[in-house]
Amino acid sequence: MKQFTVKIRENLLKRRAALLEVIQKADMERSSDGIALEQDMSEQAASEQNNNIIEALNGIERKELADIDNALRRIELGNYGICEEDGDFIDEKRLIALPFTTTCAEHSKH
Ligand SMILES: [Zn+2]
Repeated sequence: MKQFTVKIRENLLKRRAALLEVIQKADMERSSDGIALEQDMSEQAASEQNNNIIEALNGIERKELADIDNALRRIELGNYGICEEDGDFIDEKRLIALPFTTTCAEHSKH
């Protein structure tokens, strides 16, 4: 494994641990909210709205977690940093900026 990939992998694992913590915390808050008793209507609405916000944030984090898992899988398989479209090496600067990218700048869908 290239030194560069080792470093990227380290960063991905760190980010993954941080994301898991956020997601677990959000899950806990949601379940404690769920058992709250005797809320009046407005409180209930506010808490529901709050839950939706948590849910949305959580969605972003879950998506990033999936991206990280995909990147880690590609590292294990040895095809990390290789463009899906043409098999060329992706520029390292691009990988630092976009560690989950699976294409070179030329084939970027953005
Ligand atoms: Zn390409």
